[in-house]
Amino acid sequence: MRGRYAPSPSGPLHIGNALAALMAWLQVRQAGGTFVLRMEDIDTARCRPEFAAGIMEDLRWLGLDWDEGPDIGGPHSPYTQNERLALYGQALQRLDARGSLYPCYCSRHDLLAAAAAPHGLASEGPAYPGTCRGLSPAEAEARAKRKTPSLRFRTHDRELTLRDGIAGTRRVNAAAGGDFVVRRADGIFSYQLAVVVDDALMGITHVLRGADLLDSTPRQLLLYEALGWTPPAFAHIPLLLDPDGRRLAKRHGGITLAELREAGVSPAGVAGWLAWAGGLLPEPQPLLPAELVGRFALAAIPAANITVTAEMLEKLRAAR
Ligand code: GLU
Ligand code: ZN
Repeated sequence: MRGRYAPSPSGPLHIGNALAALMAWLQVRQAGGTFVLRMEDIDTARCRPEFAAGIMEDLRWLGLDWDEGPDIGGPHSPYTQNERLALYGQALQRLDARGSLYPCYCSRHDLLAAAAAPHGLASEGPAYPGTCRGLSPAEAEARAKRKTPSLRFRTHDRELTLRDGIAGTRRVNAAAGGDFVVRRADGIFSYQLAVVVDDALMGITHVLRGADLLDSTPRQLLLYEALGWTPPAFAHIPLLLDPDGRRLAKRHGGITLAELREAGVSPAGVAGWLAWAGGLLPEPQPLLPAELVGRFALAAIPAANITVTAEMLEKLRAAR
């Protein structure tokens, strides 16, 4: 088994991230596998090296370690996306050679103007309506002289089976999200492309990550298929929500690991609380990640998102 935690260094680690990291780590350690840490920093506008360093410090504080990663290297170096751009470029060439890509000249404004189609994924706005799908090569060439296009992956209407170790099996239309961007007009590769290239080339067999990425999985399956790679086993960890159904946010206080550490909460306190919130323990109990390895069971993790009440947060802040 090869699993990974793949944070974007765009902010401090909060308890929702820590839940996903802990569960991914427990699964791998229970199986005696290899755990990989990868920094997903291709979105250069939002990512900063200080955050990457902070995330590694927080993970170590919590008691998580990794066998391969940006700081220690490994057989699939480098473990930082911005140092892997050539690999994404090569994958794009292969996709292009099989006719999977087309240039898109739509501006943000055009995309918004086409917003009426009701097929959107809730978190991402409406699906792309395919405006540039049928441009003739001559037209595309003429436009390329005036504007750098983004590149989209061509999806087709067909059923895709999505198997998830927590969410279960669902059937989705492969075209539901629309033709998606694999390289932005400014040359930045998309998350969807980079994550697939990295997980495949790093030999990742098991992906445990937050349920916010469940909607991305069909697109990733399409990329695995188009690139001729076997997808990993996926399991999506429920999100931690506030009682109003929103993601826990800054205003709730004490939800980053740094804040908890400063407030005197112990690593065992955080890990035990996370294991309880995630269904592995009947009661919150201070236990370090290493002490939780035997308690891990994919089947115990709820599929529904977890509502974190004020009382639960109090328990977290009091955990010593
Ligand atoms: N880098 C992504 C994020 O932090 C996660 C990627 C993944 O786990 O697939 O949201
Ligand atoms: Zn377009």
